[in-house]
Amino acid sequence: YLARQARTESNARSYPRGLPIAIERGEGSFVRDVDGNVFIDFLAGAGVLSLGHNHPELVRAMVEQAGVLTHALDFPTPAKDAFVEAQFSMLPPAMRARTKIHFCGPTGANAVDAAIKLCKTATGRGDIISFQGGFHGASHAAMAVTGLVSQKQPVANGMPGVHFLPYSSCSRCPLGLRPDTCETNCATYFENALRDPNGGLPKPAAVIMELVQGEGGVVPARPEFVRRVRAVTAELDIPLIVDEVQTGCGRTGTWFAFERYGIAPDVVVASKALSGVGSPVAVILYDERLDVWSPGAHTGTFRGNQLAFAAGTEAVRIVRRDNILGNVVARGEQVADRLSVLHAHPLVGEVRGMGLMWGIQLLDAPDGTPASALAATVRTEVLNHGLILELGGRDDTVVRLLPPLNVTAEVLDTACDILIAAIGGLPH
Ligand code: PMP
Repeated sequence: YLARQARTESNARSYPRGLPIAIERGEGSFVRDVDGNVFIDFLAGAGVLSLGHNHPELVRAMVEQAGVLTHALDFPTPAKDAFVEAQFSMLPPAMRARTKIHFCGPTGANAVDAAIKLCKTATGRGDIISFQGGFHGASHAAMAVTGLVSQKQPVANGMPGVHFLPYSSCSRCPLGLRPDTCETNCATYFENALRDPNGGLPKPAAVIMELVQGEGGVVPARPEFVRRVRAVTAELDIPLIVDEVQTGCGRTGTWFAFERYGIAPDVVVASKALSGVGSPVAVILYDERLDVWSPGAHTGTFRGNQLAFAAGTEAVRIVRRDNILGNVVARGEQVADRLSVLHAHPLVGEVRGMGLMWGIQLLDAPDGTPASALAATVRTEVLNHGLILELGGRDDTVVRLLPPLNVTAEVLDTACDILIAAIGGLPH
């Protein structure tokens, strides 16, 4: 089957082939491959399937909607109205009245592009500040602001005017500063870079950041750093775009991660888990003072996915009804507790995470085996024991967990058993 697939739609060289299985069915936190093997799926569509595969109520909502209206371009529809209302109901009350929502085409990268374009339109400025190690998508502009070099394809004449500053991830401080001082220094560096008129950095159209770098290896930003980035951008009237494509829709235990940090961004980018079931939709939510586009200024054919709207409205209802955010917090604590045994492992640098996004940073082995090879071994080993995990971080040295947000304690325990055994079995 895989040989056939390699000859057909997936034969492009760029197609990732790290996980050599072909998936036939999904159900909740599980998938079954074409050979009948069952796996726990802790990739969950890269965080898309927040309520697991084929959640029956989301499927029902989509099937019902499919009999009524599947696509309606930009026309107002009852399904879209309900979706917008559901999304607004999840925003902090203080933001709700000032927030505009704009549909941006199907993917996260589309919405990142839209956010950048909107801030450029609103400010009349052209430069963008982004952060080292961040990931924002594969389209041209989203890739241009991606700092995770191993995940971007360099192209000639890439988008000019993008500047990367250090992200407060103290485990890999570029200056080798002590973790307790690094956070403060990083924030000070950022403030000076923006404030110093002779520093050579033009006043940017926007600052774009993830609050937990996902593809970058699950790196939660330090709270003081985030607060000071917000404060100085507000002071200088520079829009702050928070990319919540991966952290949004409950992944970190609040609907959006910015709530955990106690800040209010100017633009929020959301996509992946908005429909809960993988039906594509992407939006930007932004402060009304940035509402500068005239009608038709930013269009896209696939912005009217009624199936995604129906599923997304239902997903919000289920998140409330089933206290999914409470489950994220409880299961997140369970992961932290279970994986704490790995802290003592000589090949484990850090175990990092928030809510239900976790990463285990592997280190090069004393015999010279690079961390990327060890991480690939872990991924294969857990797959052989029935667990799908992906890698991330610089040179794919971080093993990542992105389970569905409604995962049960039992399934999570089993996955932790498999992972701990795989890391325990690495030669050291
Ligand atoms: N931003 C972040 C934070 C992401 O994690 C991703 C996808 N991994 C994207 C943007 C791009 O989303 P998409 O692949 O849907 O274009």
